[in-house]
Amino acid sequence: MKTILTGIRSNSVLTLGNYLGALLPMVRLANKWSGSGEYQVNIFVPDLHSIISDVDGNLQENIVRTIKYYLAAGLLVNDNVHIYRQSHVPAHSELCWILNCVATMGETSRMIQYKEKSKGQESCNVGIFDYPILMAADILLYSAEYIPLGEDQFQHIELTRNIAMRFNHRFGEIFTVPVATAEQVKFMGVSDGIRIRDLLNPEKKMSKSTKAENSKIMLDDEPERAAKKIMSATTDSLGIIKFDMWAQPGISNLLQIEALVNNVPLQDVISTWAGQTRYGELKRKVAESVSSMLAEFQAKFAEISDEEVYALLDRGEAYANQVASAKLFEAQKAFGLR
Ligand code: ATP
Ligand code: MG
Repeated sequence: MKTILTGIRSNSVLTLGNYLGALLPMVRLANKWSGSGEYQVNIFVPDLHSIISDVDGNLQENIVRTIKYYLAAGLLVNDNVHIYRQSHVPAHSELCWILNCVATMGETSRMIQYKEKSKGQESCNVGIFDYPILMAADILLYSAEYIPLGEDQFQHIELTRNIAMRFNHRFGEIFTVPVATAEQVKFMGVSDGIRIRDLLNPEKKMSKSTKAENSKIMLDDEPERAAKKIMSATTDSLGIIKFDMWAQPGISNLLQIEALVNNVPLQDVISTWAGQTRYGELKRKVAESVSSMLAEFQAKFAEISDEEVYALLDRGEAYANQVASAKLFEAQKAFGLR
């Protein structure tokens, strides 16, 4: 069976943007493929990646919450779905070290994420530099071929491919090389990447680190509060509803949210509203969609117990440790460590 691997950092509560742009598409993809018998889906919590930057509140709490998010978003758990914490599978750290000795300073220093994340920092921790190599270990340990990720991570997939090919060239076919990013995009079926905009400054994307509370909807916002945020979203003075991210980013964002929240094609929402002039009506409709989505999501979330999450992790980590240690052993043998 081929493996699809996915994870989302669990440093804090997520936004509606994270949900619609990352979590929900992953859940839909997982549900589609895990039931097919053709693929297995590994969902892992990259908690070792979390600690390269500040974690708000309690990391343990955040980890459990992230897994509940997947379940509340409708993830169907079956025998082909494995959920585990990175830090509970020691092979990730161990293979990372071995790959550190295969990757070069040149290629790792070229990573844009590293350049961006370290920019302006007086002292940057080594984890920020090295995390793409840990990411390569996350992928290669499970012979994962498909890794649904945002565009900002594509360079790391290419790095993983290069490291795997170099390793194999030196030692024989030990690692499965993940498919190239162009193929990944086709597989995900999201070529036109989803980008939910900041509600007050729709030229920017919605980010959880933005300070202004009315800029973003958090998954734990009271539904009525979320509705108010939509009602106060910035629009424009053109006075006619049209999907045009450049000229009318605020209105376009609302149309996009309406489509995604109700799981209907964007084109349908665009045709329903095109040419109408009352922005207030559109806002009321979107506010209603978002608040009922949140109410439903939060009700499901509240029903999931910590025990249920830990039971899933126990099962997933038993599986992950078995697969990962076997692959690690091959890599250790290649170097003569075993
Ligand atoms: P930060 O402000 O800390 O960077 P963020 O909200 O940008 O937080 P990330 O942790 O960087 O979130 O990203 C988590 C996932 O959510 C990624 O897969 C990213 O592509 C996706 N994502 C983030 N923001 C949006 C958005 N506004 N619309 C769609 N997807 C998003
Ligand atoms: Mg971000």
